[in-house]
Amino acid sequence: MTKNPLFSTYARANLNFIRGEGAWLTTEDNRRFLDFAAGVAVNSLGHAHPHLVAALKEQADKVWHVSNLYEIPGQQKLAQRLCEATFADKVFFTNSGAESLECAIKTARRYHYANGQPDRYEILTFDGAFHGRTLATIAAGGQEKYLEGFGPKAPGFTSLAEPDIELVKQALSDRADKIAGVLIEPLQGEGGIREISPSFLKALRALCDETGSLLMLDEVQTGVGRTGKLFAYEWAQITPDLMAIAKGIGGGFPFGACLATGDVAEAMIPGTHGSTYGGNPLAMAVGNAVLDIVLEDTFLQKISDNGLLLKQKLAALADSYPDQIDSIRGQGLMLGIKCKQPPADLLAKLRDNGLLCVPAGDNVLRLLPPLTIGQEEIEVAISALNKSLAELQDDLSPEPSAS
Ligand SMILES: *Cc1c(COP(=O)(O)O)cnc(C)c1O
Repeated sequence: MTKNPLFSTYARANLNFIRGEGAWLTTEDNRRFLDFAAGVAVNSLGHAHPHLVAALKEQADKVWHVSNLYEIPGQQKLAQRLCEATFADKVFFTNSGAESLECAIKTARRYHYANGQPDRYEILTFDGAFHGRTLATIAAGGQEKYLEGFGPKAPGFTSLAEPDIELVKQALSDRADKIAGVLIEPLQGEGGIREISPSFLKALRALCDETGSLLMLDEVQTGVGRTGKLFAYEWAQITPDLMAIAKGIGGGFPFGACLATGDVAEAMIPGTHGSTYGGNPLAMAVGNAVLDIVLEDTFLQKISDNGLLLKQKLAALADSYPDQIDSIRGQGLMLGIKCKQPPADLLAKLRDNGLLCVPAGDNVLRLLPPLTIGQEEIEVAISALNKSLAELQDDLSPEPSAS
């Protein structure tokens, strides 16, 4: 066997998919899997969605890349649609979630700089957060396991222990003139589908208004319909000043965006930021096609309905397997099974039984199916879960021991 030429950064499962259709993936040796990972919340419309495939092929025949030296009509169109559907007035296109966060961080700092407060660059974040793997975003996430060995942590990020409004108040009253913004996922993904209460987000919005700090949302995972609203902030009836998105908006094509209010975006004058690939015509064609579907009349309601159905069925499983399941979390089609043990065994067992899921922090197994699933896929997933939990239960309760 030849040596693996890839960095060994990933612990990959030994599966090799060569085809996908809707929520299903097929391996080289013709095994089918129900995909409740969706490329970690990326394949929002499932695999090989005909409308996305057509949009990409059509653009591929025209022009792939021109750079931001020139006009890109697809950017204008997609930005316009994103602004009409959200709080935002301005959009910057990127290639990934972390780059969208980088743009949000730079924009927040530059906003205060432009307003005569160059020392106001600190960003408050929260324990359990995940904002990406660049040097700034690992500092923002604050997790030791991602920071270790990469030199000094980028300055200007302070992680608060909990989404507790008193903690934020304290930090802001101590040094409001240093704090550029507060960055938060409205529902923590990698951290373990940890819910943030709407009342906290409302209080946070009010506190940011009082102190002039910017409210910065990371909706890279929660955005574009995942929780049953176009963006999760809508559940709390607030709006942010800055928002990072990616994952679902590309439906599998790698791109992201940073959205901002007009006031805030104004600080980013010509030359302050850029990206070679960001907003490339192929990405824009796919992004516009994703929005065609997600903005259809009943699309979001169906996510809420199916999410609720799935959550109820998961709650019933939690009742049946109290030795293994602690509780069910999340909203829409961003759900978590909080397990009593690390979920690695359950994840492997599910894979054996044809269901793909994703682990997360806090002993949580994440379910992130394509947003297009229906009752049939939900039934298949629940029966794979039931079978896997039953098999693990047999291992948990062995013959009474002799001693
Ligand atoms: C995935 C994710 C990121 C990072 O996105 P990349 O595209 O991997 O850079 C950032 N924030 C959240 C909430 C995410 O889920």
